[in-house]
Amino acid sequence: MVEREYYINSLKRSNYKITPQRITVIDYVKGHSPGHFTAEAIYNAIKSEEPTITLATVYNILKALQSAGTIHSLEVNGTTWFETNTKFHGNFVCDVCGNIYDLDIDEASLLEDVDRDGNEIKQASLILRGVCRSCRKKEADR
Ligand SMILES: [Zn+2]
Ligand SMILES: [Zn+2]
Repeated sequence: MVEREYYINSLKRSNYKITPQRITVIDYVKGHSPGHFTAEAIYNAIKSEEPTITLATVYNILKALQSAGTIHSLEVNGTTWFETNTKFHGNFVCDVCGNIYDLDIDEASLLEDVDRDGNEIKQASLILRGVCRSCRKKEADR
């Protein structure tokens, strides 16, 4: 479990002031780790606690955490998702329930395979789509 201090320190290193709103967003991120979340989901979850916060502010805090290297973002169907798993992995998106699952994929061997013909790939982002196990089970039980 990553401590709140880890995220706070990363913002401080990027010269962000630590405000109560930023702490509230950090607590949400920390509480949903590991997992995938959108700025909208955070905004909806915390707006009663932080009535003056805007969606744009939540988004900016997430971008700040991302530039500090503590969270990672991915695009799925035109929506930006964030996650605390910054280690290379595949994101498996279920087209039925919309959940995103992390899959362990070895980056070094993947890059080795695609580099074979002389390209030099420096970074990869992997999104896999399909139907997740629990949706398949629900389908089978029907
Ligand atoms: Zn599913
Ligand atoms: Zn992920």
